[in-house]
Amino acid sequence: MTAPHVPLLVARARKAAEAWSALTFRERERRLRRWGAELARSRADIVARICRETGKPTGDADLELVVGLEHLSWTARHAERVMRPRRVAPGLLAAEHRAIVVRRPLGVVGVIGPWNYPALTPLGVLAGALAAGNTVVFKPSEYTPDTGRALAEAFERANPGSAGVLEVLPGAGEAGAELCRAGTDKIAFTGSTRTGRSVMAACAESLTPVVLECGGNDALIVAEDADVEAAAHAAAWGAFSHAGQTCAGVERIYVAEAVSKAFVSALIRELNPVRAGEHYGRLTTPAQEAVVRQHVEDAVGHGGTFLVGGMGSFRAPGVVDPLVLTGVAEDRPAVREETFGPLAVLRVVRDLDEGVRLSNSVPQALGAAVFSASADEGVAARLRAGMVSVNGVLTFGGIAALPFGGNGASGFGRVHGEEGIREFSSAQSVTVRRLCLTGSGVTRLRSPWWKRPLLRALLRRHRSRRGPA
Ligand code: NDP
Repeated sequence: MTAPHVPLLVARARKAAEAWSALTFRERERRLRRWGAELARSRADIVARICRETGKPTGDADLELVVGLEHLSWTARHAERVMRPRRVAPGLLAAEHRAIVVRRPLGVVGVIGPWNYPALTPLGVLAGALAAGNTVVFKPSEYTPDTGRALAEAFERANPGSAGVLEVLPGAGEAGAELCRAGTDKIAFTGSTRTGRSVMAACAESLTPVVLECGGNDALIVAEDADVEAAAHAAAWGAFSHAGQTCAGVERIYVAEAVSKAFVSALIRELNPVRAGEHYGRLTTPAQEAVVRQHVEDAVGHGGTFLVGGMGSFRAPGVVDPLVLTGVAEDRPAVREETFGPLAVLRVVRDLDEGVRLSNSVPQALGAAVFSASADEGVAARLRAGMVSVNGVLTFGGIAALPFGGNGASGFGRVHGEEGIREFSSAQSVTVRRLCLTGSGVTRLRSPWWKRPLLRALLRRHRSRRGPA
């Protein structure tokens, strides 16, 4: 589809929004669960599409689908609780009113998805938007239109007669750009930081709010007291699964000097048998391979050396075996930019503190991982990242109750979990008078009858307020 199709799809979604938002949460949950069941029944077809379009092996596509289904069912089940109206204290000024915060759906949400997880990434976003009561126009990446279509067709099969609730817009970037201008009530974008900027600029024209899930450049820190075998295993998975084309994949490894030798040996052992085309798939786009090559050549040209692989690892177009570089200065693109390929850059650091400092020194702030026997959630406070896993990698992505997203150049806003439902709603403040006193709180303050006692009471409360001991 192209730009002229976009207003038509948005209009269809707008028309469907009234009925969809009027459903009870229970009814929407039922429809979303039927969708999940239909997706599960269509597993073979969807997995085949994911593999064909992205080049990933069946096992990875299965994992992607099943994690997406977990997100869908969690979100469907919890939307009512998250969106439940909340009574708040009205305060002395408006004591005769009830005060309630009500969450309302936004209307129509435009969802723009990437190619790397063409089922999981959209499902996590669509679930929140639909469960909150919005309808959606979903533009999959031009590299993965068939997977995108499969999601929408399964919705229609599971819920016949639901035209307009989930419209799919298979098309190129130009169609995505048009969707940003089409008057939707929010755009949820997942993709590169560069396109994220264009999306935000286009949405600024109409003050359409955005949630941006952009690229990462995540570090894995191996502390002096880490289980190096576990850390090496996690680094291999985090950096090389799906050929490194994971937004929160490991791109940088900082390993404490005391365990660096043992860790490097363990990592080499882990990666020795790993082959592109066998253990993970090809790079999905030629452009992606060009970025990997460019980062590697630049790093090697500036003193970087290979710990794993070499220029011979580029075996055929799109087929690149694991590459680990060391001795790369922190200002080179391989360190500062998202490579999004089967490349990890390893640096030996003094200790966990230095690892944390370097981890925080890039513009992206999506995820981070720490391996340490003594660290717990406290270490997360020191990391500039939207998500942190301790003694694990990417764990947060598989827990449906946890919000997903980053800060800085990785974007803002959250999908998944409670935040991923609230993201697609807005707060409406409602007051209802329950007692009949003369005048409202504010006007009472100006009427001679109420003024003195009320003013005195309010001032007394403020005068006596102290901070916590
Ligand atoms: P892109 O930014 O190239 O594209 C993302 C989507 O935006 C695609 O559907 C694309 O369409 C569309 N698009 C392109 N131009 C525009 C435009 N001007 N206006 C609106 N939409 C447009 O990202 P990739 O598809 O290459 O995905 C990889 C990137 O996504 C990586 O940086 C990765 O880190 C990030 N990502 C982030 C995640 C997160 O949750 N933070 C999760 C997954 C990936 P088309 O493909 O047709 O050009």
